[in-house]
Amino acid sequence: MKAIRGAFLDFLHDPFYRDEQEAIRYLPDGLLVMDGEKIADFGRFDELAEKYADVSTHHYANRLIMPGFVDTHVHYPQTEMIAAYGEQLLEWLEKYTFPTELKFQDKTYARSVADRFLNMLLMNGTTTAQVFTTTFPQSVDAFFEACSERNICMIAGLTGIDREGLAPAEYRDTADSFYANSKDLIERWHMKGRNKYAITPRFALGSTREQLDRCGQLKGEYPTAWVNTHMSENHKEIAQVAEAFPEASDYLNVYERAGIVGPKFTAGHAIHLSDDAFQRMSASKCSISFCPSSNLYLGSGLFMIHKAKSLETPVLVGLGTDMGAGDCFSILRVLNDAYKVAALQSQKLSVFKGLYLATLGGAKSLMLEDEIGSLDPGKYADLVVLDLSPTPALAFRAQNNPFGKDQTSEEHQCARMEHDAFGTMMLGDERSVEATYVSGQLLYRKTGTPVH
Ligand SMILES: [Zn+2]
Repeated sequence: MKAIRGAFLDFLHDPFYRDEQEAIRYLPDGLLVMDGEKIADFGRFDELAEKYADVSTHHYANRLIMPGFVDTHVHYPQTEMIAAYGEQLLEWLEKYTFPTELKFQDKTYARSVADRFLNMLLMNGTTTAQVFTTTFPQSVDAFFEACSERNICMIAGLTGIDREGLAPAEYRDTADSFYANSKDLIERWHMKGRNKYAITPRFALGSTREQLDRCGQLKGEYPTAWVNTHMSENHKEIAQVAEAFPEASDYLNVYERAGIVGPKFTAGHAIHLSDDAFQRMSASKCSISFCPSSNLYLGSGLFMIHKAKSLETPVLVGLGTDMGAGDCFSILRVLNDAYKVAALQSQKLSVFKGLYLATLGGAKSLMLEDEIGSLDPGKYADLVVLDLSPTPALAFRAQNNPFGKDQTSEEHQCARMEHDAFGTMMLGDERSVEATYVSGQLLYRKTGTPVH
């Protein structure tokens, strides 16, 4: 066993639907005990110190320790093409994405990028992600091999695209090859160690009706598998989906007709949705990945977070970088954009709502809340240690925190943390991450911080 001591923040409830102070669990001086890959105990330091006096303990003073961040939508093969200039979705795919992803036919290359990608996630405090790959099965094998070495919880799957004209012939698969390769990969990787498989049609426009039906067939054969895709991102895309699937009443209905919408189904983006589509997503208990950095970068539009988190049509929501269309690996930077996307719609995104989406909310949207997302004993010890004042701007802001250090009541300490954490939500990035633990192992430590 080993332990870490410090200030801890996680969530007991959804702050979109509860009083925020009731939703959070903040321990200004806490102790978290790890036994192997799991959290064995967690509570106030003064209550647990005696019981674990013999356990080796590292003290993170003046830091905030949280459950690792969850990125519910990201493309590992796009690591090298982040920040590609000047296009919207369909042109961006043609000009930059498919030429890059063709390189992933080479498994050795795929593995080198998978390692780099996972290290970038850890540097940014992300410990679980739902990940797109390519049409090449070896790119999926390479990714899960890299994950297995780290004992990290990732969801990924072969990313199908079989419609003529949408991608170069050498990139496309077929409905049959997608089915056979997906089945083979599910057998090989799904629920092996911490690996989880998502049946992944890239997006409705990229798939024929036959390929989407094959996705439904796979979901029927493997009901514990996830389903991950894109939906209603861009106006031109939506118009072309309507043309390609005239039998469907809207974009969501294309997926409904394939039998894949329900729990464990994630639609990335879902920007341009009718009230009726929100209603159907709410009823089906599927989830949306909110990817504001990508949506701003590609000029796709503003996701209506207030409709997804309403009382009338509550939909599970997690955050996604959507890197490479998103211009960052950092969930903190995604929260900066999420705040602004909400502000443009006259909505407020508080720091506790934001950090909930980044942790327990993301875990719930992927139906992983029994495994990750909070600091409850029994869950995996996937943690991020945040430095709330790593830059001159944040340090100066923290020095002038209106809730000074002179008062020590828990309410006052919490208000002080809330102010500094909001600064981190708006100004933070990988510089804010001091250390990242996965399955109880310290897998990332910022250069210059003490070894322990
Ligand atoms: Zn995407």
